[in-house]
Amino acid sequence: MKKAKLVIIGSGPAGYTAAIYAARANLEPVLYEGFFNGPSGGQLMMTTDVENYPGFPEGITGPELMDAFRKQALRFGTTMLQDDVIEVDFSKHPYKIKGNNHSYEALSVIIATGATANRLDIPGANEGEFWQRGVTACAVCDGAAPIFRNRPLFVIGGGDSAVEEASFLTKFGSKVYIVHRRNQLRASKIMQKRALEHPKIEVLWDSVITNIGGDHVVRNVVVKNVHSHAEKEYEAGGVFFAVGHTPNTTFLKGQIELHDNGYIKVDPGTSKTSQELVFAAGDAQDHVYRQAVTAAGSGCMAAIEVERELSVRGLIR
Ligand code: NAP
Repeated sequence: MKKAKLVIIGSGPAGYTAAIYAARANLEPVLYEGFFNGPSGGQLMMTTDVENYPGFPEGITGPELMDAFRKQALRFGTTMLQDDVIEVDFSKHPYKIKGNNHSYEALSVIIATGATANRLDIPGANEGEFWQRGVTACAVCDGAAPIFRNRPLFVIGGGDSAVEEASFLTKFGSKVYIVHRRNQLRASKIMQKRALEHPKIEVLWDSVITNIGGDHVVRNVVVKNVHSHAEKEYEAGGVFFAVGHTPNTTFLKGQIELHDNGYIKVDPGTSKTSQELVFAAGDAQDHVYRQAVTAAGSGCMAAIEVERELSVRGLIR
């Protein structure tokens, strides 16, 4: 089995930033980018313009940004593997990382596998139907696209993401409906207030979308009241899922401590997990901020902590 000082699992902003810092610290990182589990580069690969990543005043597309991160990590000597990790064994040091094609023994590990936005299985919402043709799971990423301009837009969910995304979409849509399955939002009071007072936002309480229709793009949705079962068709230009995220951590069960919602537990203010010399960065351990820039920052923290912890233990010179 090949040996590494550091294996990084995951290739979004957190993983690549960890690799840049670790490579510059001579840790010769090996990074599993993923293959079948999703595109290398993570969630940003599914977005269009990124306008809030500092340093790009004119914006940059998600794939371009991730390509630049990747090139920077390569430039300093990261070994990139187009492979998925299927199993880890942290019971004995050095740790074992098993991929479909490559396996390593590592002195330290950074987990940066991110999270996946949840989607609902509504007729019309799937691949080959209107997914990415008016149905998306990220208003902030996709909302500015021309197909959504001056059209009625529908956000599904009742949490902070739903109200934040609805507020954001008021810049583009003619009207924004929040479709929520209950009669009370879960979002924080201050964010609720902002959304509920917005003249363009209307909440459809106790409601679910039962069908999404259209031609080459979304044209209408059917909304059902969950109590009366009455259905009503609305003209629609887009449907945005804001029904939470699921961290990509199932392969870690039993190896490190996870929160009940599957996110990795870290010591507050650090990237340290319950297992020494195993660190976590990015969305896999963050269900609050979930931004590319915070993920990148936590990747940097993890790499610095790896270097310190390996030095303290005399495992690197
Ligand atoms: P969330 O709080 O888990 O809310 C998910 C929403 O989706 C809930 O309202 C839930 O309904 C609804 N939902 C879940 N499954 C559904 C289904 N099958 N059908 C219909 N509706 C469904 O997720 P989030 O809004 O993404 O927030 C996640 C975390 O990030 C929270 O801690 C939040 O505070 C934080 N966040 C903060 C900000 C900010 O401060 N600016 C912005 C975004 C997110 P129920 O309410 O009925 O369960």
